[in-house]
Amino acid sequence: MDDTQIVVFGAAGRMGRTIVRIVAEARGAKLVGALEPASSSALGDDAGMLAGLKPLGVTVTSDIASALSKADAVIDFSAPGASAMLAEAAAKAGAAHIIGTTGFSADHEAAIARAAERCAIVKSGNMSLGVNLLAGLVEQAARALPSDLFDIEILEMHHRHKVDAPSGTALLLGEAAAKGRQVDLAEESVRVRDGQTGPREAGTIGFATLRGGSVVGEHSVIFAGEGERIELTHLAGDREIFARGAVSAALWTKGRAPGLYSMRDVLGLGA
Ligand code: NAP
Repeated sequence: MDDTQIVVFGAAGRMGRTIVRIVAEARGAKLVGALEPASSSALGDDAGMLAGLKPLGVTVTSDIASALSKADAVIDFSAPGASAMLAEAAAKAGAAHIIGTTGFSADHEAAIARAAERCAIVKSGNMSLGVNLLAGLVEQAARALPSDLFDIEILEMHHRHKVDAPSGTALLLGEAAAKGRQVDLAEESVRVRDGQTGPREAGTIGFATLRGGSVVGEHSVIFAGEGERIELTHLAGDREIFARGAVSAALWTKGRAPGLYSMRDVLGLGA
């Protein structure tokens, strides 16, 4: 079978460089383009060399239309506005769009959903197998443990460069808990506590955020009852787990009908 032709958007970023490396190593995938903004100092560089490999003969450019014209799929870990714009460009070019970016507004989400009517989009706040499995376990635990007996708190820590909070993964885990409890996360979530907050309101789902150092990503979902506590934790040791998930998603989209898919679809873990 022909290799899946892949473009990496944000190719000079922390995730972008890792994805270039994983695409170069992956069976059935071929890097055909590397994109960065017009202002980037990486324009003109070889994407392989930027990723710490030998030259791959793919030059970093800002010409989205030309790069996408050769692509089966574009992998994108960039910034919310850039990803929403790229979804439209991918739909126009007939390429699948793999979105790892986090921190979207409701308007960005709507733009992505509109583009997904015309191309296959896989979007996930966390592309790793472990976290997507964890989301299933969280949903199951939240369904089993009554909300008047167990409080749910989600704790996350990331490196000092991360610009959005809570993390996309914390929100993904919050959605899984809300689904298990059959409630709407937007109505039940408590994102910040400060000052005289009063006692904890039963049934809410709390978030706490830590930032510092070079932590790749740590998430715990805590079910706290009277006299007992269950903690489900995922520790990411290396960015490669997200890059490998994103490349698997790109391969999975080949021949896929338009639609908005999640990593749970890609990994066959059910809805
Ligand atoms: P980063 O190092 O800042 O990389 C972002 C890259 O995207 C930069 O190279 C940036 O270029 C580029 N970019 C921004 N706007 C662009 C545009 N309009 N056109 C082309 N390129 C553009 O950040 P990161 O740590 O790799 O993280 C990127 C995103 O992925 C974040 O939202 C993060 O939360 C998310 N993430 C998701 C997962 C997951 O599994 N879903 C895992 C890890 C990270 P400039 O620097 O030149 O602006």
